[in-house]
Amino acid sequence: MSEKLPGDRDRTETRGSVVFVGAGPGAADYITVRGARCLAQADVVLHDALIDPTLRDWAPRAQWLHVGKRGYRDSTVQTEINALMVKHALAGARVVRLKGGDPSVFGRLEEELQALRAHDIATEVVPGITAALAAAAATQRPLTRRGSGRSVSLATAVTESGALSAGRHADTEVFYMAGARLSELSRRLQAAGWPADAPVQVVSRALWPDQIASQHALGELATAGVLHAGRPAVVIVGAGATAVGGNSPRVERHQQRQPLSEP
Ligand code: SAH
Repeated sequence: MSEKLPGDRDRTETRGSVVFVGAGPGAADYITVRGARCLAQADVVLHDALIDPTLRDWAPRAQWLHVGKRGYRDSTVQTEINALMVKHALAGARVVRLKGGDPSVFGRLEEELQALRAHDIATEVVPGITAALAAAAATQRPLTRRGSGRSVSLATAVTESGALSAGRHADTEVFYMAGARLSELSRRLQAAGWPADAPVQVVSRALWPDQIASQHALGELATAGVLHAGRPAVVIVGAGATAVGGNSPRVERHQQRQPLSEP
């Protein structure tokens, strides 16, 4: 393959670039081929938490900098990340900004792109598998269903002020960052018109070897709290939460997939 990547450049060119790469949600081999190729060319990798450490094998010559922290990221940290990307790119480095899941979904991509645009730095976004799609694949519960599931919403239950907001906007609703607020989410969704017996699937650490998935009725969603405590989780409500082909255990812990060996 001889396709030109944004980091490819003439010897005379001194300005670097920043490629936002979605690492996917779990094991390293869920990254895209293009994402892996960008890593292989990187001089500097700025990565969040929740990234499989074995991804380092794809970028053996790069300097790896951990810039993320779990949960709320304050604006100081964001400013520092922006400044680091700008500094390395202006120094001529090929920077990969490696993000969990997909960079365009709850990934602060807007702020980071703005910072780079302000310095006229070349950028590219390489998509990754977002947590909602990982959870659907991991539990074999399609997010859309013929007849009953015609729309999907990706939502964060937590607003900028920390308040919780939830409504009824789609046949399948996937909530990110709601794992610690399950009883409140359950109440808000019922107030918005979801019935207490609406199906809910909670999936934490989707596509990691220690993934846990559990099935609930919306009215009893709070009982999922202990099972998924302290783990990144998505909450799937509605059509996409039901098992295909009837009964399945209420809690599934196993992960059928093993990493594939390299071709
Ligand atoms: N850009 C990421 C989301 C970042 S926000 C993406 O596209 O997936 C972080 C939230 O994502 C977590 O609070 C959790 O709700 C969700 N999340 C990330 N990884 C997950 C995983 N492996 N399983 C379930 N939820 C996950």
